[in-house]
Amino acid sequence: MILLDQIQRELAVLDDKSLRRRRRHAESPSAPRVMVDGKAMLAFCSNDYLGLAAHPKIIAALQEGADLYGVGSGASHLISGHSRAHAILEERLAEFESPHLVDARALYFCTGYMANLAVLSGLAAVSGKETALFSETLNHASLIDGAKLSRAQLQVFPHGDVAALRVMLAASTAPTKIVVTDSVFSMDGNLAPIPELLALCEEFKAWLVIDDAHGFGALGANGRGVLEHYNLRSPNIVYMGTLGKSAGVAGAFVAAHKDVIEWLVNKARPYIYTTAAPPALAHALLTSLDIIQGVEGTQRRANLQSLIAQLRRDLRLKRWQLMPSDTAVQPILIGDNAESLQAAATLYEQGFWVPAIRPPTVPEGTARLRITLSAAHTSEDLAALIAAVNGLED
Ligand SMILES: *Cc1c(COP(=O)(O)O)cnc(C)c1O
Repeated sequence: MILLDQIQRELAVLDDKSLRRRRRHAESPSAPRVMVDGKAMLAFCSNDYLGLAAHPKIIAALQEGADLYGVGSGASHLISGHSRAHAILEERLAEFESPHLVDARALYFCTGYMANLAVLSGLAAVSGKETALFSETLNHASLIDGAKLSRAQLQVFPHGDVAALRVMLAASTAPTKIVVTDSVFSMDGNLAPIPELLALCEEFKAWLVIDDAHGFGALGANGRGVLEHYNLRSPNIVYMGTLGKSAGVAGAFVAAHKDVIEWLVNKARPYIYTTAAPPALAHALLTSLDIIQGVEGTQRRANLQSLIAQLRRDLRLKRWQLMPSDTAVQPILIGDNAESLQAAATLYEQGFWVPAIRPPTVPEGTARLRITLSAAHTSEDLAALIAAVNGLED
């Protein structure tokens, strides 16, 4: 029982530091109004920014996909699991991002986590251990893990610090250089300086890998994401967008020059050695893309923008701080773990589901409430939350 004792001791340490994680049970579809463990809640915690996760048309498309293709894919993509539904989705995604890439092709993955492992390990496989990987300090855990898997020489550059990155790139003699960054920082909501990073990558002949998990669908006039937001186009870009957040379904994709994609299909182990996602999901995502690109998507993005403006206008904080963000991710910096948990618990009692985010997800001493907004919220929903949060510090 010695081994189990060790784990029990470490779990007690987590309790002492207010770091133990607990899962709640959502009993209804992801939406502003959810049943959680038998209690009706107003949720401000999902990444379903456009409110598509329970959209009737996408639900119908998923059902149609199951009728057409069954449930499981049966095998990995390179054996027999690659269906026509996957191929059509990849063509649609490549076309959607084509204004921003050169000779674009796209590759669909089961999850964004796997896509990031695949991109970093796959690109690094070109030059092996001589690859230099420059990673932004606030990058998502999946990029940090992808960097480890790549076995490239890792250098971490400070948050948003283009000048520091320039010095690192200028000093590097590596045959393959990769710069990797989140576009929207997932726990902060702010944007990376993508145009400046891209200019550096072009100057120093480096790949720019962009994780647009929180931008795809939500940013840009047509929902193409951060590249449309900044109006960028370059052969150096390797773009990763996720499909379980704004797109409301599941999975992710990588879009880049067709030869980069061909290389990943041949070399990226997280792509090769796993069962392909159910084709029905790919089929459902076609409807999701129709909505994102259409009039409805434009209206949903406009509603999201007005909610963001309302929150920033009406929230009144004293000691706590609303972090600078123009996106659907609107965190309130509290600092202390226990105080953040208490704030989340008080909101929860009042019927608002807002998560407290603690280390190691965020740096020590920067625990926070992470409010996320969705186009499916009404301004009345948000006004109720704002009133509750404004009362918390009293
Ligand atoms: C959610 C997220 C991922 C992982 O995507 P999944 O499809 O959920 O696995 C990757 N990067 C960032 C920045 C994310 O927020």
